[in-house]
Amino acid sequence: MSPSPPTVVEVAVAVHLDKTFHYRVPTHLVDRARPGHRVFIPFGHRRLTGYILGYIEASDSKLKDIIDVLDSDPLWTDNELEFFRWIASYYLYPLGEVLKTALPAGINLQSNKGNAGTDSTISGGRSIKRERFYRPVAAVEAGRQPGSKAIEILEVIREAGDVPAGDLRRRFGQCSPQLKRLEELGLVQMEEREVYRNPFGEEPFERDTPRVLNSQQEGALQHVSAALDSGIFTPFLLHGVTGSGKTEVYLQAIAHALEQGANALVLVPEISLTPQLVRRFRARFESGIAVLHSALSDGERYDEWRRIRRGLARIVIGARSALFAPLERIGIIVVDEEHEASFKQAEGLRYNARDLALVRGRLEKAVVVLGSATPLITSLHAVERGKLTLLPLTERVENRPMPTVTVVQMKGIKETISPQLARALEETLAAGEQSLVFLNRRGFATFLVCGDCGEPLTCPNCSVTLTFHRQRRQSVCHYCDYAVPAPGVCPACGSMEMKELGAGTERVESDLRELLPTAGIVRMDSDTTSGKDSHERLLKRMADRSDDILIGTQMIAKGHDFPGVTLVGVINGEASLNMPDFRSAERTYQLLSQVIGRAGRGELPGRVIIQALNTSHYAIQCAAGHDGQGFYRQELEFRREAGYPPFSFLAALSFSGTSEKAVEDRAESSSRLLAKLKKGLSLRIEILGPAPAPLYRLRGRFRRQILLKSPTRGDLRRLVSAWQSRGDTSATVREIMDIDPVDMM
Ligand code: ADP
Ligand code: ZN
Ligand code: ZN
Repeated sequence: MSPSPPTVVEVAVAVHLDKTFHYRVPTHLVDRARPGHRVFIPFGHRRLTGYILGYIEASDSKLKDIIDVLDSDPLWTDNELEFFRWIASYYLYPLGEVLKTALPAGINLQSNKGNAGTDSTISGGRSIKRERFYRPVAAVEAGRQPGSKAIEILEVIREAGDVPAGDLRRRFGQCSPQLKRLEELGLVQMEEREVYRNPFGEEPFERDTPRVLNSQQEGALQHVSAALDSGIFTPFLLHGVTGSGKTEVYLQAIAHALEQGANALVLVPEISLTPQLVRRFRARFESGIAVLHSALSDGERYDEWRRIRRGLARIVIGARSALFAPLERIGIIVVDEEHEASFKQAEGLRYNARDLALVRGRLEKAVVVLGSATPLITSLHAVERGKLTLLPLTERVENRPMPTVTVVQMKGIKETISPQLARALEETLAAGEQSLVFLNRRGFATFLVCGDCGEPLTCPNCSVTLTFHRQRRQSVCHYCDYAVPAPGVCPACGSMEMKELGAGTERVESDLRELLPTAGIVRMDSDTTSGKDSHERLLKRMADRSDDILIGTQMIAKGHDFPGVTLVGVINGEASLNMPDFRSAERTYQLLSQVIGRAGRGELPGRVIIQALNTSHYAIQCAAGHDGQGFYRQELEFRREAGYPPFSFLAALSFSGTSEKAVEDRAESSSRLLAKLKKGLSLRIEILGPAPAPLYRLRGRFRRQILLKSPTRGDLRRLVSAWQSRGDTSATVREIMDIDPVDMM
């Protein structure tokens, strides 16, 4: 029964206005204008695409007519629209923008494409094509500055070490002029290589059958299956040490859901790092798997989207945006490596796919399994509070032992390889086994650490590391703006030897070559300058055992499995502790646990040597002792004392612009306004800052931030929405509100 014309519909438009709009549906479109459809509408002087949310009772003669209906089938179900409304309201973000974010980019290219995605296998048959890769060359010299967008691009290239042009385009849009400029300035190097468009497409694989589960895996599966049978939203935390068989549990739980006729959504941190996981899914399940990987073009992504919408995929695997896949009858959502920061979107709609998986699961009455060897502190806390059900896997499969870990106290910052590590490397080489040498890098903010006692400079108010600002000759807290002259004196021991931390991988490599002249050594990091060798080639040399030792930074910590590796050495074990972020201990513990998990994954047991200046820190001690419970206890205590999550809720408000003064003024006036609003509404909120961001100048812009901290979500929300609705924007200063911020840089 359709409502009698003229019908009025509520339409969301992707503009930066936090409201929806009403339009009249002309008689000839009444049959086609349904919720979940896109429409073409007049909007001010423009014509835009909008999204019909629902029908409206009231009629108003002044309303404008919609021009056309763009889809023949609805894009979304009611459940999905409810989910998107929830997101808009939680992140205080315009619903139209949320809907736009949720759609595949290719949809606007081919809105009436009729025949896409009728194939029930993944679109395959890709050929080899050539792709441009960019890698960093040297440090930026002052004076010859590229533009701000180019600097942003350069930063990404530096961080990744080696980036295909396609990834840069996806992130920055059209960027060939900037890349050309960076090449001209000698800051990056371009190289054309042949790549496989679809890394998962046509590899032959053997059919794989379910393993016989051990008793802990069986226990976990029983719980999940029972929840699936009940049809009630049930969230689980699958906490299993590295190599404990979590993936096997996901696979069998998903098989159970499929048998019931329900579908499965699997979120992974970065799909290009998980070809092994995808291969296992494809080997286990006959058909109907959609893999939303980053090598898909816009058109292909849209085809996959359509295929999922039509019910042709039963399992969807992808990185964070796969959360928006139009999958119906979802029985189970798996979030693998739930602790990974990459589930948080860093621009636009700053959603966290890990958190939203729980929301979508609730709306779909699904089972949600968050899996990790090193869960978030907040997840473990949620277990304690009964909000997540714990499924523990405490042993590695087939009784493989965890590696033995030794922590070595380093004397100063000059020595790179300790005698203990040197001896272990020699022994491993002599035994014909392989080693990984992991250099923990400090990321890109700088801070000072005492060369004598190893203590970093921290803020007395905020318990985070102070950021060293070279130009201002100060060490500054970027939460509260506390500052001391730099380099200064060590508050712990009185030493004057305050230094920026860290040897580079190059130095480690040359020291190792001197130490072990006969060893085959490869280095993999953003400074790698070797001409032809791609990362894959370097990794292959490890896999086929042509090399003995792999040196690298964060990028070797996860994803790669080398069964021949029996020794892992960690240099600067505590470096990541000194990031100016309250989560630095958590990140360090996670990182070290991951690296430790790289050793002894094959037949032979592994050992690990962690070198550090500050060996007594609980993040290092607990990682070394495989003591997740101990780490949780101590970290939770720290969070309680300092008032960080899970004991508070955060929002970060950042200001950036090319005029330092304008940014400072805007941040100051916003802070005063926030204080006034807070007082007027009697809210329990701490307003920290404004303070300079740790990356004070980024892409030529000055950056300041205000951190809002509240014991209740409600108070935080009220303040943020009051602040947002003040309707006063600045032409020169960009303001961004980040709810539940993850990246505090
Ligand atoms: P995790 O995801 O916890 O790191 P995986 O699921 O990848 O662990 O399991 C590690 C290895 O052990 C894989 O090769 C997997 O096939 C194997 N495995 C998992 N469960 C079992 C089992 N019950 N019996 C034998 N092997 C298993
Ligand atoms: Zn000291
Ligand atoms: Zn502070």
